[in-house]
Amino acid sequence: MSLSCFDLGERMLSVDEALDAILGFAAGSSPVQQTLPLADLRGCVLTEDVTSPIDVPQNTNAAMDGIAVAWPTDAVTSVKEDDAEYAFLEVVGESLAGHGYHETVPANAAVRITTGAPMPAGTDTVIMSEQLEASSSDDERPSVRVTRPETVKTGQNVRQAGEDVRRGAVALTAGTRLAAEHLGLLASLGIDRVRVSRRLRVAIFSTGDEVTAPGEALPADGIYDANRFSLHGLLAAIGVEVIDLGILADSEQGMVTALREAAESADMVITSGGVSVGQADWIKPALAETGALGFWRIAMRPGRPLAFGRLGAERVPFFGLPGNPVAVMVTFLQFVQPLIRRLQGEHDWQPLRLRARAEDALKSRNGRVDFLRGVYHSDESGQLWVRSTGHQGSGILSSMVAANCLIEIPASDASVEAGDAVLLQPFMHRG
Ligand code: AMP
Ligand code: MG
Repeated sequence: MSLSCFDLGERMLSVDEALDAILGFAAGSSPVQQTLPLADLRGCVLTEDVTSPIDVPQNTNAAMDGIAVAWPTDAVTSVKEDDAEYAFLEVVGESLAGHGYHETVPANAAVRITTGAPMPAGTDTVIMSEQLEASSSDDERPSVRVTRPETVKTGQNVRQAGEDVRRGAVALTAGTRLAAEHLGLLASLGIDRVRVSRRLRVAIFSTGDEVTAPGEALPADGIYDANRFSLHGLLAAIGVEVIDLGILADSEQGMVTALREAAESADMVITSGGVSVGQADWIKPALAETGALGFWRIAMRPGRPLAFGRLGAERVPFFGLPGNPVAVMVTFLQFVQPLIRRLQGEHDWQPLRLRARAEDALKSRNGRVDFLRGVYHSDESGQLWVRSTGHQGSGILSSMVAANCLIEIPASDASVEAGDAVLLQPFMHRG
């Protein structure tokens, strides 16, 4: 483990320096692995490359209902009644999905075929039903009449074996987070279990004598505990198992005990509150007993201060997030989420960043990264535009609800004028 995060001292850190130090924590570590069945895999991260044991689809097959035939055919003749050309083909059998036709189809003959059914030997082209007319009522030797044969192209309406995934090809790579489409793809390969990193167990606390659990009566000096529940949602969205350890009073001894116990059962511990200047003192000695801790001032808004370190003999990573509910969410998204993803084996993850134009001037300050809550949309020409949700106080959680992104204004920008280009991070934890 890198110790650099404890050597950073009291100076103001840039967002990038802080992120580098945090990600340094994951260097050299590899996730604990487990094998899980398909139905339990959503949100898990693959720890192995998955190679396809079969061609998908297995057989070259029909993409439409109609007839399968070798094209071109000699059976095209013109008919006197309307002077048009038709192809007259004898129908020698049928190939249905799940029940193929296992003989070779002779030249100038066809088989009826349904979507997904294997193409019989001797055929290469499917002509859709809409282009066919029954031409003979002779039940012994049924035949069809193909209208407008000049429009038929050899090989049309056919799906090739292996066109989705080839046998032996790497279908999914280690480090992939599994969503619905990945589960479908694995299933289409016939794979029913894969190796993934064990879900990270993350313990969360709220701290503060004023902080009150929802459902309880609100004391005169109280405030309801928002942070434990926004953290719960953020963690669940990235496949984490949450250990909810409730609310800690502002007491050093309670903190020591709770942190020690949490470090024994969790892979990471996150608290909120109690790291402001003046209140940090009771966290510092508590952590001195059970681990090592860096208190950081990070050049960003909202979000400072932030504590980061490790707990106990297990060296469990610890985040002391700020208390204000917006600051909790912003610091989680910028710092906690990347480390969790890295620890789960998702190595190349970065937040999605889109470029948009500011609808109005935006407030920011030179020397720090400003994360504003924003609403983005695209105009008729496809240009993205973004505006601030208004009041940006770090306790104004309704501004997170109104937003669909964070606008990220770099430390080098003192101001943003209407029409200027800005970067935004869409909210990906919803949905
Ligand atoms: P602190 O860093 O403990 O001084 O907290 C900063 C601000 O965040 C204070 O106004 C706290 O009341 C508030 N706060 C702390 N924890 C929570 C929480 N779990 N839910 C909502 N607000 C909180
Ligand atoms: Mg507090």
